[in-house]
Amino acid sequence: MRILVISDIHGNLPALDAVLQEAGPVDATWCLGDLVGYGPNPNECIERVRSLPNLICVLGKHDAAALGQIDLQAFNHEARFSVNWTQDHLNSDSLEFLCNLPEIEEYGNVTLAHGSPRNPIWEYLLDTHTAAVNFEFFETKICLVGHTHLPIAYYWLNGNHKTEWKIIPVGEPTRIIGRTILNPGSVGQPRDHDPRAAYGIYDPVENVWEAHRLSYDVSEVQRRIYAAGLPARHAIRLGEGW
Ligand code: ZN
Repeated sequence: MRILVISDIHGNLPALDAVLQEAGPVDATWCLGDLVGYGPNPNECIERVRSLPNLICVLGKHDAAALGQIDLQAFNHEARFSVNWTQDHLNSDSLEFLCNLPEIEEYGNVTLAHGSPRNPIWEYLLDTHTAAVNFEFFETKICLVGHTHLPIAYYWLNGNHKTEWKIIPVGEPTRIIGRTILNPGSVGQPRDHDPRAAYGIYDPVENVWEAHRLSYDVSEVQRRIYAAGLPARHAIRLGEGW
C-alpha cells in the first residue's frame, strides 16, 4: 500500500505537479496543510489536491490566515502581503474547500496535524524537547506533521520521556519501529537549504516510510511569482531552499 504524504505546498503548482507525477498512482494522499500562501497558484493547487482519490487533508496556518481566522500581526511584512494577495485571489470553490478542513485527523494508527498534535495551527516541532511533550497529545503510534518545512523524524524513547531525531535518508525505505512523529518536508518551499521538493511515501501495512526529494522547474514558479507581483523574496528563497 502506498500513501503519498505531502505538506506545505504554498501555491507552488510546478512543484506539486512534479511530485504528483513522480509519485504516480497511490492508494491515498494525506496532505498536512498550508496549501496556499507565498505562491502564485493557490486555486490550482487546491483544485489538484481536492481531486486526489482517498484524500485526507488538514488545515494549515496559512490556510487559516487566508480564511481570515488569524490576526495578520502574527506574520512578517512579506508573509502578510502574501496572505492579503491570497485572500484577494481565492475563488469560492477554494474557500469552501479550506473552510471545511479539520485541524486534526486520525486514520488507523496515524494522527495528522499541521504543526503539532498539541497545537495544530501554531506550534513548530523544531527540537526534541517540544517533540517529547507532544507525544502526550496523540494516542496513535505515528503522528504526521508539517509546518517547519524540514523533513525529520522524532522517535519516542520509551520510559524516559525523551525523544531522539533523525533525518531519514532519501532512497532508503525505513521501517518505523516505535512511536514516531514524522515530517515529510515541504513540497513548495523547502527550508533545509535543499531547494528540491520534499514528500514521503508511507506504507501503513509494512509500516515503512520513504523520504523523497525531487528537482522541479523552480525558474517557472519564480517567473509566476514576479508576474503576480508577489514579494521577490518568495522567489529568491525557492532557488536556495530557505
Ligand atoms: Zn508552511
